[in-house]
Amino acid sequence: MSPEEITILQEWDRRHFWHPFTQMACWGDDDPWIIERAEGNYLYDIHGRKALDAIASLWCNVHGHRHPRLDAALVGQLAKVAHSTALGASHPEAIRLARALVEQTPRGLEHVFFSEDGAEAVEIAIKMAAQYWQNLGRAQKRLFVSVDDAYHGDTVGASSLGGFPLFQGVYGHLHFPVRRLPSPWALQQQFEGDAQRARVVWLEKLAELLEQEGEQIAALVLEGGVQGAAGILPYPPGILRGAAELCRDFAVLLVVDEVATGFGRTGSLFYCEQEGVCPDLLALGKGISGGYLPLAATLSTDAIFAAFLAPFGEAKQFYYGHTYTANPLACAVALANLEVFAEEKVLPRVSQRILQLHKGLERFGALPVAGLPRQFGLMAAIPLRDPHSGRSYPYGDRREYRVCRRARERGVYLRPLGDAIVLVPPLSVTADEIDTILRVLEESMIEEGQA
Ligand SMILES: *Cc1c(COP(=O)(O)O)cnc(C)c1O
Repeated sequence: MSPEEITILQEWDRRHFWHPFTQMACWGDDDPWIIERAEGNYLYDIHGRKALDAIASLWCNVHGHRHPRLDAALVGQLAKVAHSTALGASHPEAIRLARALVEQTPRGLEHVFFSEDGAEAVEIAIKMAAQYWQNLGRAQKRLFVSVDDAYHGDTVGASSLGGFPLFQGVYGHLHFPVRRLPSPWALQQQFEGDAQRARVVWLEKLAELLEQEGEQIAALVLEGGVQGAAGILPYPPGILRGAAELCRDFAVLLVVDEVATGFGRTGSLFYCEQEGVCPDLLALGKGISGGYLPLAATLSTDAIFAAFLAPFGEAKQFYYGHTYTANPLACAVALANLEVFAEEKVLPRVSQRILQLHKGLERFGALPVAGLPRQFGLMAAIPLRDPHSGRSYPYGDRREYRVCRRARERGVYLRPLGDAIVLVPPLSVTADEIDTILRVLEESMIEEGQA
């Protein structure tokens, strides 16, 4: 690309392209990063500079960029049809994908409702849960329960469940009322890392709430084993299983949001498997299309689905849909994405990388510029600390951002999340690449700590 073209793109980017979660007044202080192409685990910018995609293009890339199987599936579908509606019509790719998802998610989930983004998958679960109880004639069950610092996406419904005080402050007046339990991870910190005690106490609090208000509660909504966007905060093991049992006892639906943890991120295809849990509703997104196209899905049990079946005149059907629901291109790639898991024996390799990452993170324990790292599957967060005070740098200092800039100059693309730097590489990351990411991050943190 010529220097003139680059200058024009940068100028238009600043002027016209309003970026998500971005203070546009600062955007492009230092040249904005414009990615032109990618190959495998690497991104290339308009200057031709290469960087390892250590955040999997925001946690969604699975088998690397431009995977031949996924590319071929997309091009193959393009030769048939790019889009046709799912309202009043169907198409082979969505049918096959629905079948494949039912086969590969926990047993008991039988029906798939497609959408485009994780937030929508959650939004749909909220509306399904609410209407489920209405259809059964129990319309008083309308309250939702979530946890502090939860993240379920940015639409008004999904962000009602979200628990970030900052977002609640700005958009709180738009939200529906939600009962909130403590973050299981925060409880564990309160009990000096005692996971067992945190689990027991958290479940007691849930039981108490369900005893008091269960008659009014439609559903409990939980992220799948880890509070991702809050900074990779793992639940104590057993939270999901315990919650599922309590929900059953009190006739409250359990919605599990595996938008971040689904599709191999934790070493199994879905984290629910590890806890032996089949939720009533399961929200999927991010990795579902291998990181290629916007696609998401909400899976439901037979019991939920059945509550929407009635003679037409009773108007019990689910009133929901988008223009691009079950887009054939996205479905075709998502099918190929699932096939690659089996063909390339992805999960055993991911389990090795998870162990390697665990060992590799030990070095940050002794680093004055780092707090204690947190890990869940192939996701980690390393908090940045001011070596003089041992605390986080103040909000707005942007130190975390500068660490990431330094890492990018060393060829590794990372992003901050709160006061931490997160690592969420594609599942196709190699052992050498994990070593590189950890080394570059360590160097960049030390350098910034001395600046
Ligand atoms: C990213 C995420 C979402 C939102 O997904 P979008 O595709 O960004 O709308 C919802 N829940 C969890 C747990 C997530 O990590």
